[in-house]
Amino acid sequence: MIIQPKTRGFICTTAHPVGCEKQVETQISYVKQQPAVNGPKNVLVVGASTGYGLASRIVAAFGSRANTIGVYFDKGAEGVRTASAGWYNSAAFEAAAAKEGLKSFSIVGDAFSDEIKNKTIDLIKTELGKVDLIVYSVASPRRVHPKTGEVFSSVIKPLHEVYTNKTVNFHTGEVSEATIEPATEDELRQTIAVMGGEDWKMWIDALQEADAITEDATTVAYSYIGPEITHAVYHDGTIGAAKNDLQQTADVLHEQLKQNGGRAFISVNKALVTQSSSAIPVVPLYISALYKEMKEAGTHEGCIEQMYRLFSERLYIEGEIPVDDKRQIRIDDLEMRPEIQAAVSKVWEQLNTENVYELTDLEGYRKEFFGLFGFNVEDIDYEADVDPNVNITNLK
Ligand code: NAD
Repeated sequence: MIIQPKTRGFICTTAHPVGCEKQVETQISYVKQQPAVNGPKNVLVVGASTGYGLASRIVAAFGSRANTIGVYFDKGAEGVRTASAGWYNSAAFEAAAAKEGLKSFSIVGDAFSDEIKNKTIDLIKTELGKVDLIVYSVASPRRVHPKTGEVFSSVIKPLHEVYTNKTVNFHTGEVSEATIEPATEDELRQTIAVMGGEDWKMWIDALQEADAITEDATTVAYSYIGPEITHAVYHDGTIGAAKNDLQQTADVLHEQLKQNGGRAFISVNKALVTQSSSAIPVVPLYISALYKEMKEAGTHEGCIEQMYRLFSERLYIEGEIPVDDKRQIRIDDLEMRPEIQAAVSKVWEQLNTENVYELTDLEGYRKEFFGLFGFNVEDIDYEADVDPNVNITNLK
């Protein structure tokens, strides 16, 4: 089958197995070129197939020689439909881990369910004994509550007031104004239920109860703060409220784990092109402006550089982990540098459809967006016939 990108709205509905494999190999080779991390040995990553979760899994395995279990929600190929990018990424990850003699397993299913938690715990007990790091990196538009069956949907909206700002259709380059109505109380409640900390805590409680984590285990979940420009729709909006809930959960989990030497953190990461962030209004235009400034300053990083720094310069160092006044790890430090933010704000004022390619790295944004699905990757022949059916070796 010849696989080309097919877009619907802002999403790409096809993925290229060879392109995804190459992207994973590139991330692995970056980690292997860095000094080893004296880090975790048995790791569970929930939300492990793309973005920050995949990069965390790669750093754990290839930077710290950890055995890993990845939990994610992806689909294999069926008929004329390709598999999702996360499926191909995970297949490539598992093949590479096996070559290095590292254990790695995949559990595909709904991480919010009791069924998948129980299945994961059984697998930990049989294959790894206990895990010493749990990364929680789920980004999802909906969640079915495992106890009540209620279906929650998350929305990306401001609170209290209508928000208007510039946004870009990154496929056409058209800059326009996005106006978003404030969320209702119920939308806020549902967003917190999907993207807040309840499920993370359910995972840690279940793992602890089953004696499937080490006494000094570390757990980390990811958050974003970002600049003033996006605050109304992100940090001060529904998602920000969910992230506050995630931080409160981190504090509760930290108390729970620290009695035995364990720890729980939120890491605030940089804005990056991922399937989740491309769905947020305003954010792709901000990321395009940010990329240009950071690339010019030589401080640009992707998911893998961010996660390598999180492991090697924060989570697994001798002594105290540097945190901010909310006890959050700030790996978004380079993004938030005042000179970078000042330059982005200046550009933001002038941005329109005519100058967007000149003033921002929209081209780079689009390249990375298609790269998420294995397209636009160098040295891949996209006219070649490829088999979309790819097996994940240790799929449980
Ligand atoms: P992503 O879309 O690339 O990855 C999400 C992962 O969650 C995938 O592996 C997917 O399979 C998995 N997933 C989704 N629903 C699931 C379910 N029901 N069961 C099991 N797995 C499920 O997202 P990302 O951008 O890497 O985001 C991960 C975390 O990082 C989120 O908490 C996000 O808020 C945070 N973050 C993202 C950015 C950014 O700019 N992308 C910045 C800072 C923090």
